Amino acid sequence: MGFFTDRLHAFPRYELYQLGVETGLYPYYRSVESASRPRVTVEGREVINFGSNNYLSLSYHPRVIEAAVNATRRFGSGVTGSRLLNGTLTLHRELEGELADFYGLPSCLVFSTGYVANASAIAGFLGRHDIAIVDKEAHNSLLSGVRLSGATIRRFRHNDLTHLEKVLASAPAEVGKGVIVDGVYSMGGDTAPLAEMVEICRRYPNTFLLDDEAHGLGVLGDRGRGALEQQGVLHDVDLVTVTFSKSLGSCGGALLGPSDAIELLTVSSDLFIFTASNTPGSVAAALESLRILREEPERPARLRANVNLFVGLLAERGVPTNPAESAIVTIPLRRADDVSVAEVFRDLFEGGVFVNPVISPAVTGEAGLIRLSLMVEHDAAMLEEASELLYKVIAEHDQFVQR
Ligand code: PMP
Repeated sequence: MGFFTDRLHAFPRYELYQLGVETGLYPYYRSVESASRPRVTVEGREVINFGSNNYLSLSYHPRVIEAAVNATRRFGSGVTGSRLLNGTLTLHRELEGELADFYGLPSCLVFSTGYVANASAIAGFLGRHDIAIVDKEAHNSLLSGVRLSGATIRRFRHNDLTHLEKVLASAPAEVGKGVIVDGVYSMGGDTAPLAEMVEICRRYPNTFLLDDEAHGLGVLGDRGRGALEQQGVLHDVDLVTVTFSKSLGSCGGALLGPSDAIELLTVSSDLFIFTASNTPGSVAAALESLRILREEPERPARLRANVNLFVGLLAERGVPTNPAESAIVTIPLRRADDVSVAEVFRDLFEGGVFVNPVISPAVTGEAGLIRLSLMVEHDAAMLEEASELLYKVIAEHDQFVQR
């Protein structure tokens, strides 16, 4: 066998992949053939869409599409260069200004993706003499940033404040410490106890708290500013990152924080300087979505009402869900092995409901998960239909977790 074949076959997930190729069971990389609406066409089948992060239904909003088209006509399809050289458009500046104003934070920097924003911030602020203190369920982009920084990594148990404090207390006072968390966790959909974390971090010198609000923006808080608004700590968290690829229906990301932190990245961050600037269409779409969110703060409230309705419909049928603190609803499955989870996915898909199956290592603990992302434009009939099918399929596979 060749170099790449050997490595492919040694990959732990290869068995599922191979089985999928033979039987059609592989649940990932399905080709989507229409916009990310509540009903979407995937490989020829119309399904109710719980697989996207288009929480506010903005990726297909006429104003957002119009803004992207107009920006493409004016600025072209790409900027063909990095932010440092020719890739900073007036549009980037406008979006940075409006995001900083929305959050009431001093400064903002737009990146090509949320992944790069996270990795760039951590690699830019921590070095090999520092310590990164990271929640056990933090997003992969945050861990990539730590690896690039060369900092020593310490993990604390998910959302465990006592463990966080223990790790902080054990680090030397003079060493730089970055506490790194997600405001909303992408797989569990639960929130971080940010208010308590702010209090703890304040007690330790040379420490910053970074909060990734990828799944909080547009979802939580009175104006949709995420878990940190919901918990009243908008101005107490040191660094905030967001993505445009979820509620803002586009692609890109941003870091918000003190002006000197932002300046530092613009002069020093390889991940910011040596990659192409995001396309005019995607920046304009994110900007228009942000404006709609600001004009219509009832959108996040309607989204949360949909979450409550859906959780209620599932509960009526005896389908257990983990606490739904965001727009991500998760259903634990009794058997977590890849094939069992993929079979549930397949029967849901064939019955007309598209979900995200979550298997190890993306999820810790015993159970696999069915993950559903709610959208503001899911209607009651869709939620009813989906909860009925979820009940039927999970029961048929004897996959109910006993509580
Ligand atoms: N943080 C979290 C928690 C995420 O779920 C994601 C996307 N999966 C990202 C960051 C990265 O965002 P982007 O898609 O913009 O790269």
